[in-house]
Amino acid sequence: MADHTAHVRDQLDLYLTGALDTERERHVERHLFTCPTCRVEADQASEVALELTVASAPPGDEPDPAPTIAPRP
Ligand SMILES: [Zn+2]
Repeated sequence: MADHTAHVRDQLDLYLTGALDTERERHVERHLFTCPTCRVEADQASEVALELTVASAPPGDEPDPAPTIAPRP
């Protein structure tokens, strides 16, 4: 079976979380480069991951902008 034609969908989660070893990571990257279908999947998966990260952040808790300009004498 030709491995390079197999879709990497089931590995995208692991890929996005950095859980794959270098060899598989490289394989997924190469596949994404040549396969628009899996690239879309990867985009969506990373968006979900991003939303989860944002959702887990404390709401409306922005840090005060610290003044970086020193007052002139
Ligand atoms: Zn694919």
